[in-house]
Amino acid sequence: MTNIPELFGSSVFNDTVMKDRLPSDAYKELKKTIEIGKALDVELANVVAHAMKDWAVEKGATHFTHWFQPMTGFTAEKHDSFIQPEDGGRIIMHFSGKELVKGEPDASSFPSGGIRATFEARGYTAWDPTSYAFIKDDTLCIPTAFFSYSGEALDKKTPLLRSMQTLNTQAMRILKIFGNDEGVTQVSTTAGCEQEYFLVDKELFNKRPDLIYTGRTLFGAKSPKGQEMDDHYFGAIKPRVKEFMYDLNNELWKLGVLSKTEHNEVAPAQHEMAPIFETTNLATDHNQLTMELMRKTAQKHGLECLLHEKPFAGVNGSGKHNNWSLSTNTGTNLLEPGKTPSQNAQFLLFLVATIKAVDEYQDMIRLSVASAGNDHRLGANEAPPAIVSIFLGEELTAILKAIHEGEDYTDEKRTKINLGVTVLPPLPKDTTDRNRTSPFAFTGNKFELRSLGSAASVAGPNTVLNTAVADVLCGFADELEGADDLNAALTQLIKKTLDDHGRIIFNGNGYDDSWVKEAESRGLTNAKTLVDAAPAYIDKKNVELFKRHKVYNEVELQSRYDIKLEKYWKTLNIEALTMVDMVKKGIIGAVIDFMNELTDVLAKKKTLGFDVDGCMEDSLLKNVSANADIMMKRLETLEGALMGAQDIEDTMEIATYYRDNVITAMNELRCVVDELETLVPSRYWPYPGYGELLYSVVQ
Ligand code: ADP
Ligand code: MG
Repeated sequence: MTNIPELFGSSVFNDTVMKDRLPSDAYKELKKTIEIGKALDVELANVVAHAMKDWAVEKGATHFTHWFQPMTGFTAEKHDSFIQPEDGGRIIMHFSGKELVKGEPDASSFPSGGIRATFEARGYTAWDPTSYAFIKDDTLCIPTAFFSYSGEALDKKTPLLRSMQTLNTQAMRILKIFGNDEGVTQVSTTAGCEQEYFLVDKELFNKRPDLIYTGRTLFGAKSPKGQEMDDHYFGAIKPRVKEFMYDLNNELWKLGVLSKTEHNEVAPAQHEMAPIFETTNLATDHNQLTMELMRKTAQKHGLECLLHEKPFAGVNGSGKHNNWSLSTNTGTNLLEPGKTPSQNAQFLLFLVATIKAVDEYQDMIRLSVASAGNDHRLGANEAPPAIVSIFLGEELTAILKAIHEGEDYTDEKRTKINLGVTVLPPLPKDTTDRNRTSPFAFTGNKFELRSLGSAASVAGPNTVLNTAVADVLCGFADELEGADDLNAALTQLIKKTLDDHGRIIFNGNGYDDSWVKEAESRGLTNAKTLVDAAPAYIDKKNVELFKRHKVYNEVELQSRYDIKLEKYWKTLNIEALTMVDMVKKGIIGAVIDFMNELTDVLAKKKTLGFDVDGCMEDSLLKNVSANADIMMKRLETLEGALMGAQDIEDTMEIATYYRDNVITAMNELRCVVDELETLVPSRYWPYPGYGELLYSVVQ
């Protein structure tokens, strides 16, 4: 039996290790550097690097890498060994402060959306000392930010850190206004990322080019059993999956990831892991590690972990819930309704600030969760709609309404709400995930952004949320700092905010068609696809927001816009080419073989004097043949659609073209191929079917 407390964090160069291994002066200085976020000086860097290397080598590490998060949405690493030649043909293990602090990976092949081309600069990586170094695969990994020579962020981490900084500044101003800043030196955002995934048998996976190349099935007739019995959700975990989870937990715990909850999800073969929340930059790093380790650990168990947002048609896809809150360094959750009138008032201010931020920047929030894969989920009655709205629950909505209308809020106990005087009634916690249809739900002491796709990096959505809320808090602080009567000013501000932004609050069923109409009449945006959402990146209001808070400059936003669109159409292009390939190399052959068998039987029957007109083989042959003809036409249409994209230059135009032409052609081809799959015996069909894939993990 593993000793979990001992195992936990054993591969992390964390605070305890630093304290143990660094001379006490160096330790103190490093802590200071981390806290105030100033650059490390060379001498200190050398001391830290030395201690890190000794520790890592003792643990069997041979290499080090700057571990960073380029705009691919994955993590990147380039390994260097610690070896350094010495006289006499010997080597020593060496790692310098310079190597710790800064790296220059030849990063020219990472997407930069033209930033590097414009500035003709290389990419640099710089240690983010707020995230601990760790050992993975015998390599000391140093979490870093990745930026261009001229300082543009080439990664997802840098803007996130910037957004946390601006939120810190503004939230501190608010705490001061309420006199709740005693002993508080920092406000950080926190995130807990619930991660969904599928597990399928590796051997079956290997037989499906679509899964290999695109992470999702591009063909596949429905299996007789899907998720209709609701018998998988929270069901008993199969032994093979349990073994996988056991291993995964151990690996995650070693790296200091607070893996906490695991259960079966709605679809067959679908599961979820939820960690305990932490500071957002750590949660972001840890979610990346979680996804990586899920894949690796699955392989060890003869499984493949699918993180795609929609691996199978007809059953639920996978999402990622980003639970979000703000916390002081003294451990106060600022979205926790308070126990005293002043804490209450402050809580309500943070609450309405979030409401306003989400309403004002709903287009950016929508965009932050957009991906080709997530387009399959949002609005498809298995995930929140593409329309952004906020669920507050009845209780809280009633409280806000009472403040807004100047009425007394009356619950069973007939409490009167007078800001700064009244204590709020206890709010029920939304522990059961009741309103799954809301994209952004208040769940008692945090918000849960539920629209993320399972494969997404959580950096983007958190960057947007943090910056938008920081901006609103800044405006609020400006208004309240000079107020003579704080409670009156606050009541006024809450009223006005609800007047202007109350439209974003929706407690009803987000899957209902009537919501789409209602949302439209409320003036909420409904960007159905990534292509519709993308322009938010270059929208003036948003550019101004991010510039104001020094989170993204215009160049950085433009590059993200380009990359988002480019990734979208390239994903579709790969999917379409894979379909073409599977039809030509696999499916046509299978169909011909089957037709061959049928014609053989028909010929034999005829020679024996049977009347074959309308017999089983005859009608099957006609059906298969007719569908095969349709398949060929649709294959040509898809190939034609792909050709049509070749002369388009503008990224937005290409992306739009793929959405409007290629997707349709793909869907039509799939439809007829899936029909053929139901007609052709499985001994001819070249690919394992849905039933096999979804129920492959049998015990
Ligand atoms: P549920 O969503 O079922 O109500 P929990 O309340 O336990 O479940 O939380 C779900 C996720 O939210 C977990 O990852 C948890 O750590 C995270 N979470 C809880 N509190 C916070 C917080 N203050 N900030 C960010 N995430 C949080
Ligand atoms: Mg949840």
